[in-house]
Amino acid sequence: MSKRDYYEVLGVDKNASKEDIKSAYRKLARKYHPDVSKEENAEEKFKEVREAYEILSDPKKRQQYDRFGHSGTQQGAQGFGGFGGAEGFGDFDFEDIFSQFFGGGARGARQQNRARKGQDIQKRMRITFEEAIHGAKKKIRTTVYEECGSCGGTGAENKDDLETCSRCKGSGAVTMEQTTLFGRTRTQTVCPSCNGQGKTVRNKCKTCGGEGVVGKEKTVNVSVPAGVNTNNQLRMPGYGHKGVNGGPPGDLYIVFEVEEDDVFTRHGDDLVVDVPITFAQAALGDEIRIPTPYGDVNLKIPAGTQSHKTFRIRGKGVQNLRSKRKGDLHAVIKVVTPTNLSKEQEKLFKELSETDLKSDESLWKKVKRKFTQ
Ligand SMILES: [Zn+2]
Ligand SMILES: [Zn+2]
Repeated sequence: MSKRDYYEVLGVDKNASKEDIKSAYRKLARKYHPDVSKEENAEEKFKEVREAYEILSDPKKRQQYDRFGHSGTQQGAQGFGGFGGAEGFGDFDFEDIFSQFFGGGARGARQQNRARKGQDIQKRMRITFEEAIHGAKKKIRTTVYEECGSCGGTGAENKDDLETCSRCKGSGAVTMEQTTLFGRTRTQTVCPSCNGQGKTVRNKCKTCGGEGVVGKEKTVNVSVPAGVNTNNQLRMPGYGHKGVNGGPPGDLYIVFEVEEDDVFTRHGDDLVVDVPITFAQAALGDEIRIPTPYGDVNLKIPAGTQSHKTFRIRGKGVQNLRSKRKGDLHAVIKVVTPTNLSKEQEKLFKELSETDLKSDESLWKKVKRKFTQ
């Protein structure tokens, strides 16, 4: 892709004055700024315009360009980074949009003193199966970072231990100069001495060690909603770390871990329970009591029920967190083959095996008596 001539990009002639170049640039930058422009390829055009301005607004670079064309500027153009002409932007009426776009150091420095939301906290909480099904009131211990009360968040032991940063003169930003092929380039970044705070501390606060924040142990009441499952997350707004510079506190996220149950297996909102029955109950049918999380219920076993036959008991599963509707309970029949037969039982089975199973109901009744209490 061949590069367009910088003068052509800005729409000015070779003899254009510094002022002409600047005003042409301002007009085009407004037109193509990616945050505001509806033009096609606005971002590309904006970059092209910016690059042209960076070269032509600097007398030395302009001279290089006039003599050698693009080949004389390649290296420099790449080296400019995001904020090459920082000092030139000060008088722009949409300076903020610009600094946002560049993500440059000046904005970074300003952000240091901006009100910011506190950090979120994530905590895991182990709960029993019962608690997950019915919901529960629990407590959790958490360490919340908040502004140090001794120093008011400044990190200084005394008020006069707080000094204006000598490196950035309190602005929080410094201009770095680099020497390149075209001479000096200037970049504005967060002041490394004060981290953009504009202030340095002579004697650090003894309570917080100069951090400006202290950790406080807190006990938080957690209302576990009925129906939670492992890895479900409960957001508790405002229970996170305290905000910075008057910003709101962060949030607390509780991530649940539900213990497995001996009786019920969970599949989403449905539960599965194994129901062992005897050989005789399966053959002759019966009415039995089976467990649900909400108390035992009757289940009719029809005569001739096979092992692994599943009965659905509606509404005895887990409550759905959103719809609040309960899932179902699946009762899976497990026919238990008798072992360790007594002499009498053995005799009955022998008789059974010699009869037509379907016809001799009285014999089956005898078997049932011997196996169920
Ligand atoms: Zn402190
Ligand atoms: Zn500083």
